[in-house]
Amino acid sequence: MADCDLLVIGAGISGLSMAHYAAAAGLDAWVLEQDQRVGGCLHSQRFGGDLADFWLELGAHSSFNSYGQLLAILEAAQALDRLQPRVRLPFRLFAGGAIHSIPSQLHWIELLGAPLRLLGASKTGCSVADYYRRIVGRRNYAAVFAPAFDAVICQPSGGFPADGLFRPRPRRKDVPRGFTLAGGLQSMAEIIAARPGIRVERGQMAQAIDRDGGDFVVRTADRRFTAPALALAVPVAVAASLLQTAFPELAQQLAQVSTATVESLGVALPRSRLRLPPLAGLIGRDEAFYSVVSRDTAPDPAWRGFTFHFRPGVLDEAGQRACIARVLELPVDGLKTAHVVSKTNRLPALRAGHGQWIGAVDRLLAGQRLALTGNYFAGVAIEDCVTRSLAEFIRLQREG
Ligand SMILES: Cc1cc2nc3c(=O)[nH]c(=O)nc-3n(C[C@H](O)[C@H](O)[C@H](O)COP(=O)(O)OP(=O)(O)OC[C@H]3O[C@@H](n4cnc5c(N)ncnc54)[C@H](O)[C@@H]3O)c2cc1C
Repeated sequence: MADCDLLVIGAGISGLSMAHYAAAAGLDAWVLEQDQRVGGCLHSQRFGGDLADFWLELGAHSSFNSYGQLLAILEAAQALDRLQPRVRLPFRLFAGGAIHSIPSQLHWIELLGAPLRLLGASKTGCSVADYYRRIVGRRNYAAVFAPAFDAVICQPSGGFPADGLFRPRPRRKDVPRGFTLAGGLQSMAEIIAARPGIRVERGQMAQAIDRDGGDFVVRTADRRFTAPALALAVPVAVAASLLQTAFPELAQQLAQVSTATVESLGVALPRSRLRLPPLAGLIGRDEAFYSVVSRDTAPDPAWRGFTFHFRPGVLDEAGQRACIARVLELPVDGLKTAHVVSKTNRLPALRAGHGQWIGAVDRLLAGQRLALTGNYFAGVAIEDCVTRSLAEFIRLQREG
């Protein structure tokens, strides 16, 4: 006898949205999560202690009123009233040891022809570098756009598919343009995980997948879970490894996507110790970090927080701390009394022409009661993950 109707591996937004669709259709969905925490890249560090309710984002920081499928899930959970508008503050560029406004770094004459060059330009099959260099000009691309795109996807963005960034989507007018929740974006994952029909098994790392008659069998260190349908919602490299035995061709296809690593370090400091003006974040140009994301968009009366997303392997931890002190204009030992937390984030390094790769994966999935969802399909944004989960859930239902 199967444990549930749908087994999902991974309790990030991809897995939880998949579980949501199953539960909303009256199915029993179990989610296996290796951590004790749900959310994956929705990772809000909550400090407690003398920092009271202060939190900062170690992963995703922004959700928007254009995330229609995500909002529909939150609406079904009657959680729209928990959304808090993000204060609109500028991102600035950090280059040559100083903070600059973005307009001050643009080459305006080169930019003048951009609207004309946009006419009829197609992103399909183009890399970010090929597409945007042509539109904004070489100097603008190098000075502002490339560092900004690197900051958005936390990896060198030049080879990324141009249509995987800034997908146009309709905006909901009844929701703040950019929002977070009390406790940070991880609260969205916690809200979905608590929905009726969804059961999250925490501390269960899937180690192997087999078939037993019509059922899938997933083994963890000390347990065995069975279900007639299975959804993998784990990073692409983990999915490739888990599918090696039962679906070798699919595993081989997934193994073609490489992974970008980000060394993220979050710091919380008393407001009084910082001179830095309020900002949404900093974009690093020729720096060891892609970006610095600030908590100023959800201001706290006593504390400020910054998460530095470092390029991997450039600085050791002492170097990263020295870099943080330099950028935040603190004395060298200024972080000694700060609250510092770290996390290694992983994101797929998608490449131009990714649409063909998705087509090949979907052909291999056709006819299977196996679903693949995650941030390695249309794009890495939260909404891309939820959209993929919905499409895969609809396909699973068709498969019977
Ligand atoms: C630094 C950073 C900033 C970002 N900023 C934004 C942003 O502002 N806005 C936005 O829209 N997007 C943002 N993104 C992208 C977005 O957050 C992610 O793409 C998305 O949350 C990924 O969700 P996921 O569920 O596919 O994967 P993940 O969040 O990686 O979740 C996968 C889950 O699977 C679990 N798992 C892994 N292996 C196993 C196993 N063997 N068994 C059981 N469980 C397992 C993991 O513990 C994890 O919980 C950001 C990402 C990063 C890293």
